[in-house]
Amino acid sequence: MSSEVPFTDLAPMLGEVRASIESGWAGLLESGRFVGGPAVGEFEQAWAAYCGVPYAVGVGNGTDALVLTLRALGIGPGDEVVVPANTFVATAEAVVLAGATPRFADVDPQTLLLTAGQLEAAVTARTRAVIVVHLYGQMPDMDAIGRAADRFGLIVVEDAAQAHGATWGGRRAGSFGRAGCFSFYPAKNLGALGDAGAVVTADGDLAERIASLRDHGRTSSSHTHHGLVGTNSRLDALQAVVLTAKLGRLDAWTSARRTIAARYRAAFPPALAALVTEAPEANGVYHLAVARVRNRQMVRERLAARGIQTQIHYPIPCHQHPPYRHFQASPLPVTEGSAGEILSLPMFPHMSDAQVDRVCVAVNEVMAAPDAAALAATGHSAGWLAR
Ligand SMILES: *Cc1c(COP(=O)(O)O)cnc(C)c1O
Repeated sequence: MSSEVPFTDLAPMLGEVRASIESGWAGLLESGRFVGGPAVGEFEQAWAAYCGVPYAVGVGNGTDALVLTLRALGIGPGDEVVVPANTFVATAEAVVLAGATPRFADVDPQTLLLTAGQLEAAVTARTRAVIVVHLYGQMPDMDAIGRAADRFGLIVVEDAAQAHGATWGGRRAGSFGRAGCFSFYPAKNLGALGDAGAVVTADGDLAERIASLRDHGRTSSSHTHHGLVGTNSRLDALQAVVLTAKLGRLDAWTSARRTIAARYRAAFPPALAALVTEAPEANGVYHLAVARVRNRQMVRERLAARGIQTQIHYPIPCHQHPPYRHFQASPLPVTEGSAGEILSLPMFPHMSDAQVDRVCVAVNEVMAAPDAAALAATGHSAGWLAR
C-alpha cells in the first residue's frame, strides 16, 4: 500500500513492443534511410488506414501538423480561425504561427468541449475555419458542429492530438474535417520515443501541399525544385518504426483505458457518478480522466497524502496566457470557471486492478470527509465523467 499510484507510466507500453522496435531499428541502421524512406511510408499508410482516410502525411510534431495544415489551406493574415478556449496552447499557437487570428470559443459546461452554439457565437465575417479539439480523448457532437460549419462556410480542421482512435457515430477522429492533426508526443495515446506528428485527410491535393511544405517546399517530382516556401518538419524514420510497432497494440491499450474509466465511473460517489451523460454516438479513448471538484487544492492534497498522483490539464486557459490575451476581450465563463476545478486522475493502459482500486477508495474517502461539502462535485463533469 505504500507505493504511489503514478499519474502515468509509459514504460510497459514500450516493453510490449521493444523487440520489434529493436529489429526495425537494426534494419534501418543497415539501410541508412533516416529521413523519409520506406519506414515513414509504411507508417503513413498504416495510420491513414487506421483513421479511415486515404492519406496521412508524417510531420515533426502535432503543432506543425496544425500549422502546415492551415498554411496548406491558404489560411493566413486577415483570416480568423475559431478555437475552443479549453485546449492545450498549441491549438491557438498554430493559428498565430500560420499568421491568422484565433477567435476563442467557450465550451460546453458538461463536456468542456466545443459546441455548435459556441462556434456560431464566435464566428465573424472574417472567420474561415474552426479547429475542433477532441480534448481528453473525447469527441464533441461532430454532426451539429459540421452543420454549423457548413452554414457559415467554414473549413473544419480536427486537433486530434489526444484522440487516437476515438469515434463519433462509428467514424474515427481525424476523418470528419478537411484534415485531422495528430501528435505522437511520447505521452499521447500513440506515442513515439521523441517528437512526431501526422496529418490525415481525404483531400489528395491538400496532402500533397502538406508533404511539400514539410520538406522545404519541394515538388513531388523533383528533389531540387522548390515550389513553395516550406519548412523542415519531416517525420523521423526512427520514430516511424516505433509508431508502426505501437500501432498494433493501440486498440488493446485503448480498451484498457476504457475499462479503467468505466471502473472509476462505477466506483465514485453518487454526486459525481450521477453526472455521467454518455452521448450514444461517442466512444472516447480516455487520454485523460478528468473530474471536477470545488476545492481542488484540498482534494489534490488529500489524494496525494493517500499516494495518488494527479495533474491539471490545464490550470490556465489558453486565452489568459500573456501572448494570447489581446485576442480575447470578453470573459469565457465556462472555460474560466472550470480551470480552477478540473483534476486529472491517474490513467494509463497498464494500471493494475489494485492501482485502480486504490484510486477509487481514495477518491471515495476524500469526498466522504466531514468537510466534504467544500469538496463536492460541482454539478458538472468533464472527460471520462461526461461520457
Ligand atoms: C499535444 C497537443 C498538441 C501539440 O502536439 P506536439 O506534438 O506537442 O506539438 C496540440 N494539441 C493538443 C490538444 C495536444 O494535446
